[in-house]
Amino acid sequence: MFEQKTKIEITGSSQEDIYCPFCKQTEIYTKFKLTDHNILRCSSCDFMWLYPQPTLGQLKEVYDISYFKNAEFFEGNDATLYGYHDYLAERFTKQEEYSPIILKAKKLLRNGEDVNPLFLDVGCGLGFFMDVAQDEGCQVSGIEFNASAVERIRSKYIFPVFLGDILEFPDDQVYDIAAMMDVIEHFQHPIEAIKKIHQILKPGGILVLSTMDCDSIVSRLLGKRLEDFRRVNEHLYFFTKKTISTLLEQEGFKVMDVKYNGHTFRLDFLANRLKNVSLTGGRFITFLVNLFGLSKSRINLNPRTKILIFARKK
Ligand SMILES: [Zn+2]
Repeated sequence: MFEQKTKIEITGSSQEDIYCPFCKQTEIYTKFKLTDHNILRCSSCDFMWLYPQPTLGQLKEVYDISYFKNAEFFEGNDATLYGYHDYLAERFTKQEEYSPIILKAKKLLRNGEDVNPLFLDVGCGLGFFMDVAQDEGCQVSGIEFNASAVERIRSKYIFPVFLGDILEFPDDQVYDIAAMMDVIEHFQHPIEAIKKIHQILKPGGILVLSTMDCDSIVSRLLGKRLEDFRRVNEHLYFFTKKTISTLLEQEGFKVMDVKYNGHTFRLDFLANRLKNVSLTGGRFITFLVNLFGLSKSRINLNPRTKILIFARKK
């Protein structure tokens, strides 16, 4: 989606041959240099993206059933840092978080008058959010790129699920609420994806979206050690409060609410995950968690690296 005149090695501060996918300016610099990738940032609009980008074939290899149970997730290696260590184990904590989100979206939608809105979960994974939304009265559908996930959902739920890219989704569908929970950073064409969501929402429809804030204090402190940057197999674009809000407003949404969104973690999972930031620190915390028998205890943390946005189609 971004034009590139020639393939060049990014080493310096500004490269003339690469355009910002968002504002088309050429003043681009390398924000982070990873092992085999660069994270580029536009000097003009602050949009950030991975360079080089994976091919569609490489993406299809990443999104299979192992995406949800990646045994190598905690090995501290960028090449194997993708997906989830155990997505099913996170089901209940995720669903607890989704419940207030769908309730708020319903309330924002025509002041909550529509008790059975049409809900679309874009990047619906194994259907956790659809399950919650259906419990809260929504008529639910999903889109998912991962074929094994779709197969699994169809074997369990009656919810209609479209297999493929959001850009291939039929235009004649209309929805009241769309969700994009931690998915926009995975898309090959995020700007076109937002245009598409705008197209398939009814006027006044609500989009709820979560993604990282690269400019938050913790994100800046961690720099390229932030897990979001290291997921080079799947995270293709990186947003800030400013860039995601600008994108939404530019594509015909009114941003209604932006806040930092915390997560509930099991302590053993959190300790393991810390190994991806500091191997020694993570091992020490794992030792303490096991020593005190706290592995299944849960903690709610808000490091203020993730944002949750509610926006209304104008
Ligand atoms: Zn730009």
